[in-house]
Amino acid sequence: MKAKVTIVGAGLVGALLATLLAQRGFAVQVFERRQDPRRAGFLGGRSINLALAERGWHGLRVAGLAARMQPLAVMMRGRMVHDLDGRTNLQRYGRDDSEVIWSVNRGALNMVLLDAAEEAGARIDFDRRLDRVDWDTSTLHLAGEDGCTHTHAAGLMIGADGAGSALRAAMGQIIDLGERFEPLGHGYKELEIPALSAFPQDELPPALVEAAARGERFAIEANALHIWPRGNYMCIALPNAEGSFTVTLFLPNEGSPSFTDIRTGSDARALFARDFADASALIPDLEADFDGNPTGLLGTLYLERWHLDGRAVLLGDAAHAIVPFHGQGMNAGFEDAVELADLLAAEPERSEHVFAEFARRRKPNSDAIAAMALENYVEMRDRVDDSDYLLLRELDRRLAERHPGRWVPRYAMVTFTRVAYAEAFARGEIQATILREAASGRSSLDGIDADTLDARVRKSLPPLPTSA
Ligand code: FAD
Repeated sequence: MKAKVTIVGAGLVGALLATLLAQRGFAVQVFERRQDPRRAGFLGGRSINLALAERGWHGLRVAGLAARMQPLAVMMRGRMVHDLDGRTNLQRYGRDDSEVIWSVNRGALNMVLLDAAEEAGARIDFDRRLDRVDWDTSTLHLAGEDGCTHTHAAGLMIGADGAGSALRAAMGQIIDLGERFEPLGHGYKELEIPALSAFPQDELPPALVEAAARGERFAIEANALHIWPRGNYMCIALPNAEGSFTVTLFLPNEGSPSFTDIRTGSDARALFARDFADASALIPDLEADFDGNPTGLLGTLYLERWHLDGRAVLLGDAAHAIVPFHGQGMNAGFEDAVELADLLAAEPERSEHVFAEFARRRKPNSDAIAAMALENYVEMRDRVDDSDYLLLRELDRRLAERHPGRWVPRYAMVTFTRVAYAEAFARGEIQATILREAASGRSSLDGIDADTLDARVRKSLPPLPTSA
């Protein structure tokens, strides 16, 4: 008989892991502190939509769920960069439409995963918040909203309960997990560009009146991730299938502009009128959204240890919450889930060994994506519109064309392949050095010695494994 597993948290990662383990014959019990979103409605409260990339799709494919999600996902071909004067410019992410990312609704994805977990045989109890763990007897104490406490004799304990993990806190009471949280010093606020059909008619910008009359759904290009880069801060917008966009304003916590001086909806409107004028006209409820939505905190969580002998292990944001600028937190968590399910299925009786091996394999990768996500914030908010960056990007693209399977732009390795994050990071460093040196002091790519450059590429970068 396969081992009994108790998962804390039925968010994206917990629900996928529950599905994968139940499909592999484990007896899976999940506890989730929220109500069942399929009955109560999804009360996400943060990041209404997410970018799903190859690693995330892979997790869904392994669970047999990609076909269910595909119709709910909106393709994003590249970054649509919005200048201060309202001009736009699409920077493609990949070579063609086989290299794109997908915007999915967090609630819809979570509900597909919950259904799948139950169909596979997992049991999910909602309104059960892990409060504490009695480690001597492996008993979980869980609180319901009615104030009652329930106890549960746990199997192998798996913490998928997010950045503020209660299981992590309980583990930390008996071993030193080497926990460190580095705040980014920037936060975020979610706003909305409504679908054209939902726009208050008297506020519809004149340029969109005809589009609305034609029955079009989206106020701006649907198949792009929109960015308004402004140096130390920025806005982004991701499309939702029904025609709206979730807009996220990222600002420093201090300085100007920052969440210290942009305090109210009317402050935010004035900032938008000055710095994001084309977006401002498309967000009729900006003041109410700004005042009503919480300001999200951002930072990176590092743990030296992810498991407590063979009793408990952490994955997803509970083990390695990262900043969202590479759109990889959930994608990384899905990779964790596939790896842990495979390892456990292979050696269900050796949980201590499996948990140690899982952490050994995944931690270098989570450290690498944490670093790349931090770097990507600077790139998105400050570099996508500068000429040196565009020159390096063009050279990057040309080298990828000349050396297929050997030179792959770092963004593409992270987003369109399953090359280990740590390897993508290391190869990205080599590529960045070659790019910087080749383009140094140039304003165009004319006159670069292609043969010398090709020889250097072949010497520095072995071919990528074809299975990745
Ligand atoms: P969570 O999604 O946090 O789920 C944890 C679950 O555990 C929740 O359901 C919670 O209710 C439950 N829980 C918590 N405490 C308890 C308890 N004590 N007892 C029982 N249950 C509990 N990632 C991407 O891949 N692409 C993106 O584009 C992207 N964009 C993002 C944008 C923003 C603004 C943010 C903040 C994050 C973004 N992410 C993105 C990251 C992504 O949201 C997370 O990596 C992902 O949600 C992690 O999933 P998880 O299941 O580990 O944790």
